[in-house]
Amino acid sequence: MTRAPLKIAVVPGDGIGVEVMPYGVQCLKTVASIFDIPLQFESFDFASCDYYQKHGAMMPDDWKKTLLPFDAIYFGAVGMPDIVPDDVSLWGSLLKFRREFDQYINLRPCRLMPGVRCPLAGRKPGDIDFWIVRENTEGEYSSIGGKIFEGTDRETVIQETVMTRVGVDRVLRYAFELAQSRPRKRLTSATKSNGISITMPYWDTRVVEMAKNYPDVALDKYHIDILTAHFVQKPNMFDVIVGSNLFGDILSDLGPACTGTIGIAPSGNINPDGKFPSLFEPVHGSAPDIAGKGLANPVGMIWAGQMMLEHFGYKDAAAVMLKAIENVLARSEPDVVTRDMGGNGTTKSFGEAVAGEIASLG
Ligand code: ATP
Ligand code: MG
Repeated sequence: MTRAPLKIAVVPGDGIGVEVMPYGVQCLKTVASIFDIPLQFESFDFASCDYYQKHGAMMPDDWKKTLLPFDAIYFGAVGMPDIVPDDVSLWGSLLKFRREFDQYINLRPCRLMPGVRCPLAGRKPGDIDFWIVRENTEGEYSSIGGKIFEGTDRETVIQETVMTRVGVDRVLRYAFELAQSRPRKRLTSATKSNGISITMPYWDTRVVEMAKNYPDVALDKYHIDILTAHFVQKPNMFDVIVGSNLFGDILSDLGPACTGTIGIAPSGNINPDGKFPSLFEPVHGSAPDIAGKGLANPVGMIWAGQMMLEHFGYKDAAAVMLKAIENVLARSEPDVVTRDMGGNGTTKSFGEAVAGEIASLG
């Protein structure tokens, strides 16, 4: 059977994004050759501050037309605050991708890997292994609102939360499907319906409604305050967690913090309908403080590539990639792993070790 190639737009961006990207691509090419997966890569220099300096904008006007034919965007990182203010670089690139390509799911694994020091006492690999599904397009992050009586004693600011039935249902559906596909089949919904009296009870109602379609998924819900406490104290109780834009945002930074270095965490911004390309990126930013030194941990980038394969249904290849990452992390050889993991290796030594491990597993 011949399959249509998976078209991947490679957008390295800025800073360490440019440094870790080659190893992400190398690992994907290695696993693709083993499993005979037709991957097609094309690189773009826009969505970077370099591009901004040359052209006065982060991206060309026709960026959407250029990227639309791709199945996925493999994104490094953006931002060089000394050259371009962060709000300009971020709103001019990554946030445009998320919004205009309707990437309404933000997906992050929260998984304690071997060889990684866990800041939570007594936790071993296997104790923490769950997914965070964040609504990525509406909710608390609306710009509806304003300021009245400015400059007076009655100065008042208001910002609305917007939840639509379509918007809530689609993220819940995705989360239930993900939970259903996992052995434990458990979904936890983040809420705060005791304090937020209109939108959160609505969210809860939609959760109960959606649950009727997934009778085999065990469902629970927690208020966000106690949920964050459980995250730290009982992380093994979770399998898949779903939350609104704000709650999901908080949880998805707490996740990597509980499972070690930011340098290894990946994330997906997903348009599940496939109408637009989805975007896979490391959780970390462009890290100007270490950029250009070859010191960046490439695992977040590589793991994001692994998520991309998984998303497109290449389960066996994705499993090998994850195993390779795990093995290299478990060995944590000082000459291989980067400084953030206590080693004295480089992006190159770490990246090549993972690629080599993929080849030897394949
Ligand atoms: P953003 O603005 O994109 O949210 P940020 O600028 O707040 O991100 P990062 O760029 O992720 O943060 O960097 C935060 C810290 O983590 C920095 O000290 C950076 O050097 C370190 N760091 C980030 N990514 C890596 C990596 N891949 N390897 C090693 N250290 C990293
Ligand atoms: Mg930054």
